[in-house]
Amino acid sequence: MKKIISIILSLALVISVAAIGGVNAAQPETASEILTECGGNCDVCPAIVVPGIGQSNVWLLDDNGDYVLDADGNRIGCFPGYFNIAKIVMKVLVPALLSLVTQSDLGLSTSLAEALAGAFYMNSSDFNGKAPDCVEVEKYPYSVAECSEYEKQQIYNNIPLQDYAKQVGEDHLYYFAYNSFGNNIDIVDELYAFIQKVKKETGHDKVNIVPISMGGTVANGLLDYYPEVVNDLNKVVYIVPALNGSTIVGDVMTKNIAFLDKDYLYNGFLEGLMDEEDARMIEVIARILPDELLVKALDTAVDKLLADVFSKNTNMWALLPQEYYEEASAELLSAPEYKKIKEQTDRYHIAQVNSNKNIQNLVDNGVQVFNIVDYDFPLYNIGNAWNADNADGVIQLSSTAMGVHSALVGETLPEDYVQQNTYCDDPTHNHISPDRVVDASTGLLPDTTFYFDGQAHEKTARNDVIIKLATELLATDNITDVYSTPDYPQFNYARDVRGLKNDRLPDAKNALATVAMSDADKAELEAAIAEGEMVLNRTAGEEGDVKAADDRLRAILVKIGVYEASAEEEPSTFFTNLSLWLYKHFGTNGFSEFPVTAANNLLAAISYFFNRILNIKLI
Ligand SMILES: [Zn+2]
Ligand SMILES: [Zn+2]
Repeated sequence: MKKIISIILSLALVISVAAIGGVNAAQPETASEILTECGGNCDVCPAIVVPGIGQSNVWLLDDNGDYVLDADGNRIGCFPGYFNIAKIVMKVLVPALLSLVTQSDLGLSTSLAEALAGAFYMNSSDFNGKAPDCVEVEKYPYSVAECSEYEKQQIYNNIPLQDYAKQVGEDHLYYFAYNSFGNNIDIVDELYAFIQKVKKETGHDKVNIVPISMGGTVANGLLDYYPEVVNDLNKVVYIVPALNGSTIVGDVMTKNIAFLDKDYLYNGFLEGLMDEEDARMIEVIARILPDELLVKALDTAVDKLLADVFSKNTNMWALLPQEYYEEASAELLSAPEYKKIKEQTDRYHIAQVNSNKNIQNLVDNGVQVFNIVDYDFPLYNIGNAWNADNADGVIQLSSTAMGVHSALVGETLPEDYVQQNTYCDDPTHNHISPDRVVDASTGLLPDTTFYFDGQAHEKTARNDVIIKLATELLATDNITDVYSTPDYPQFNYARDVRGLKNDRLPDAKNALATVAMSDADKAELEAAIAEGEMVLNRTAGEEGDVKAADDRLRAILVKIGVYEASAEEEPSTFFTNLSLWLYKHFGTNGFSEFPVTAANNLLAAISYFFNRILNIKLI
């Protein structure tokens, strides 16, 4: 489900923030007094987080400017859209049933497109690239110290920098919220004003910024539209930044979409996004419609999203890799009504092309620039170029790692490959990853870029080592490059210690104190606890060490009767076999298109079975 959501997010990226209230240039005048305890005299510059896509709350407003509430009385979030299921079913149900019964497009594709328009209208910019009035960004125009408990929770949920705040003080932490579907240039303007405000109210003459994911595009704009900002910056700590956009967005904007290929849609596409058996079940169910009809409906939906959401949204354009810009802008922005948008996307395109040059300029002016990236996690297979580069699931590695060269996911650099040293001239440095996938010397900042193997983009903030590293970089000057300490090597691993830390270790310690067991079991339990704590506390990990420690604890907890042995269920392969059999014999055809043969009787029975399921669901 997570993956599906991230796909929807990726597909959904759209329009603009016109909420000009909040943190604008007019406001800082009143906040001229220094609000920090240090008065600006401590060694740590305040940090401003520039978060990623979907990491800011944006609320839907009605015509009176009041919050629109859902059936449970909660405010409605605008990201990535608002899916009012009841409304969508109402709209699509009748055309879908008619199309099903007649096996022809009796309004299915148009009603689907209309439903999508309804789900995304709040993210549809106008022809100036501005977001509609019906959205409000939840902003925090003050330090975390002045945030309410609710606001702190929102911020720390997105980036758990509590330890940083504890060390340095919450008055040295700021969160720059913005609309993911906002206007790129307006957001950059706001960030520049925000930096000036933070300087003023903390008393520090420089700040640290932390651009995360889409925040990397905002930083690109900042460095290019406001070159003088170099004097305001002490450190930049990039985390999985989309410096050259995402190939997924490039493929969507140029309609190089993998699932519009019939054969891939019925065999291969869904498997890349979810559990195979679930994917195969959907493939089988999809055959209740003729393949042409289904593909046409999807095609219409994509066109609608491109026209309403993507084409007019300058923040979406900022996620387009530069190599796609010429083709995509010619296709989507040629009509005269797009003139104002094209001026803005042209401007960002220059900032994106200048990204490495502007980052180098920071370094040359004494700003410390660090980069934390993930790799060896295949890009979600939305676009045809999903396997053209190594990636973290959402962004290709050359984008996050400033042009780095690497092998594809699952492959290694050729045996005779030698380190290129494009950006490193120290012959003693080995910048080839231990798994021989990445040549870090080919990325702009080989000595200050940290790589995490097998780490998925959207789980980056759950990797406690990444958060500890970011904290160390922001709160101290202990780390100046990847050689500063063996605790934070250049190449590290994906991990998520929550189960080990919050469940397994407490359960094991509790068992040690309360459960009667043999000496041998006790020795093993103690050893497993020791291993778990060692793994938990070290930051330079080994691949799979968290799972190994967790499994060891689990095994002994089962042995001494604290945990029940989990029954290993044979996973079902019914739909997998069925879908593959259908594909082999009938290609992508819907049930109604099958030839009348004995096989058809079997399939008619299956079809009837699914119709019943659908009926039950729909009524
Ligand atoms: Zn200070
Ligand atoms: Zn080097």
